[in-house]
Parts: sequence; structure tokens; C-alpha cells
Amino acid sequence: MNPNQVPDAESRYLIPTYRRPPVVFTRGEGAYLYDSNGKRYLDFAAGIAVNALGHSDPAWVEAVADQASRLTHVSNLFHTSPHIDLAKRLVENSFADRVFFANSGSEANEAALKFARKWARTKHGEGKIDVLAFEGGFHGRTMGALSLTHKHRYREPFEPLVPGVTFVPFNDLEAAKQGITDRTCAVFVEPVQGEGGVRVADALFLQGLREICDEHGALLVCDEIQCGLGRTGRLWAHEAYEITPDIMTLAKPLAGGLPIGVTLVTEEVSRAIEVGDHGSTFGAGLIPCRAAQTVFDHINQPDLLEGVARNGEALMKGLRALLLNKFIEVRGVGLIIGVEFDVSVQPLIEQSLEQGLIVISAGENVLRLCPPLIITIDQINIALEILANGIRALDWKV
Ligand code: PLP
Repeated sequence: MNPNQVPDAESRYLIPTYRRPPVVFTRGEGAYLYDSNGKRYLDFAAGIAVNALGHSDPAWVEAVADQASRLTHVSNLFHTSPHIDLAKRLVENSFADRVFFANSGSEANEAALKFARKWARTKHGEGKIDVLAFEGGFHGRTMGALSLTHKHRYREPFEPLVPGVTFVPFNDLEAAKQGITDRTCAVFVEPVQGEGGVRVADALFLQGLREICDEHGALLVCDEIQCGLGRTGRLWAHEAYEITPDIMTLAKPLAGGLPIGVTLVTEEVSRAIEVGDHGSTFGAGLIPCRAAQTVFDHINQPDLLEGVARNGEALMKGLRALLLNKFIEVRGVGLIIGVEFDVSVQPLIEQSLEQGLIVISAGENVLRLCPPLIITIDQINIALEILANGIRALDWKV
């Protein structure tokens, strides 16, 4: 199809779940995307924190092409090896003892919810089915994951959802203490809330959640789908808190743009799960798992992780230096950064796109910056300049 016809064709043929700007991307390389007119854009969205290695990373391309030429799918009824080579890496580099492979973040959280319920039933008997989750938290759009997602607008049209979920304010340990009971089987938390406006968990909050989970015999589930795998400058976001969860979920960046979701658990949780308890036709796909090995090996390097931390600090410093009258706060860690304004950020997103910079929002008033982890300091400076120009054009500067 002629790229110029795409926007109209989308509005004709697709169920309208997304609003998109009138640009059609046709190619990507490193931290850059190119549209159908050949215009180049610096990509500070990375497919919503997915393209950690940027676009068309040569080792990733080679792994995908090689696996596609060998074998793509046989189902989970038979043995293959790429998912095992990936599982081994994940287990050997985390608290987890075992993993389950799915195809998205929502599915990884669905599995976590099911595993927590089954673990609680096996260990404690009937009735321990409740979940504690947090205001601003986002865990996905499928019915189970949506039940753990706080935003009223996403939930309300589809109710009733899974019962037994209580929401309390994020970073409020006292509220969490009030909200948890002996019927709670799991506490789901993002160490850095992404969709909820880039909010970083306080150390005492996350450490306190670990304690109250232990007191009430509940599992601590860290959803690191957006903030995990190097984005905070550490391999896992929870490492900064010196705690270990019982379950961690991963997805977005792991396969470098191919669909994958992983639920990582301790041996104790795994012991409650039997053959037939859960499954997925496409889970543990050979191409995503092969691609993910490349992504994992690239990210799990001290140099890369140090670069993320260093460049993230430079980006935050640069943003704070813009000194805006409409700024409320710049927050984040590593390369997941939110800039809260007292107005909608949509005009700035449009201005930036016009100037060749892709940025997204996290809620109405928060600009979200989550570039590929391979971003360079020069590219960060270019992005800061484009943002400064956009802000000036909008007359937002003091
Ligand atoms: N959990 C978190 C923290 C997320 O940011 C997302 C997606 O944005 C999800 C879960 C859902 O992942 P998916 O869209 O792959 O189902």
C-alpha cells in the first residue's frame, strides 16, 4: 500500500483503539527511525521502552534471520533449545529458579496472578485469593492484568473484573499495611511506575512491602516489564532496593521488538505448579527466544549499564536546566524519565515530532523519555535542544 494511504485505510479497517500522528515509519537504524518520505527522527520512545538496542541491531538481525531459516514453531508439546538458553541466562542472573514464557507483558502478569493463587491454595488452603496493588499501577489490559491496573478509564467499561483486588496509594507504606490481610496472596508493584507517570518507588516503601508480604504470607511480585532489564542502569530495577521478589515479570525490551513475556519465580512458587496448570501456543517461541539471548547478552554488560545510569543523569540534569515555568517535576532513574508539566504535553509531543524527535506521554501531563539504552550523549544533547526549541515555540519558557 502507498504509505500516504495508510492513515485513511487504518481508520477504515481497524478497530479504533489507538490515535496515531500522521507519519508512517518504514525503517529504523540504531536510535533513528525514518518515515515514508525519508525524514529522520531521533527515537526517544523506543516503541514504549521496547527497542533497548535501538532498531536493526546487527547481532539481533543475524540471530533472528538465522533462527527463521532453521525453525520457527513446533509448539510447547516438543523440545526445542532457544528458550532453554534464554531461561538459563535469566535464572543465573536473577533471584529466580524457574521461568514461564508467554508473549506479552499482560500475559506474564496473568501467569503471575495464576501462579500466586495456586501457590496460596497449595500452601495455605482455600480463601487466600486477594491481591494488593497500587494507585497509578499498570499491569496490562487482559482481564486478569486489567484487574490489577488502577486506571478507572481502562477498567470501568469492562467490569466486573477479577474480584479481591485492593488499591492503595503508591509509596504509602502505612496504607499498604492497612490494605494487606492474611487473605492476600500477592502484592503487585512496579519498582518504577511507567504508565502511571514515571514514579520511582521509595526505598523504605519497597523494603516495607517485602516485610509485610513476609508477615502475611503473601508473594511480592515485581512487575519489571517497563523498568527492568537495564533501563534503570541496573539489570533489575529491584536491585537498587536490596530486596528480592518472589515473582518478577518481564516483557517489553527482552526480545528487542518481538513478542515475549516471562514470569520468573522461586522454586517454592514453582513447586505449586503442575503440568496442565498453564500454557501458551506461542510462548517460548524460537525466534523471540533466540533474539532475546542477543538482547540479554548485550544489556547484561557493566559498560552498558553504567552508560545507562550516566546518560540518564545527564538527560535529567539537562531537562532540569530547561527551567520551565510549566514544570512541576523531572523524575525517573536511568533512562526512564518523566517530566511533569501543569498542562497537557500533547502540543510538545507534536512540536518535537515536527522537529524530528519522538517522545511520548505517560498520562496527560507527563512527558515520557525512554530512548534505546544504546543512546549516546550527543543524541541526548540533540533531544534536549529539540525539546528546548519546542518549549520556546509553545511559549512555555520562563
Ligand atoms: N506492565 C507494565 C509495567 C507495563 O508498562 C505494560 C505495558 O505498558 C504491561 C504490564 C503490559 O504489557 P503488554 O502491553 O505487553 O501486554
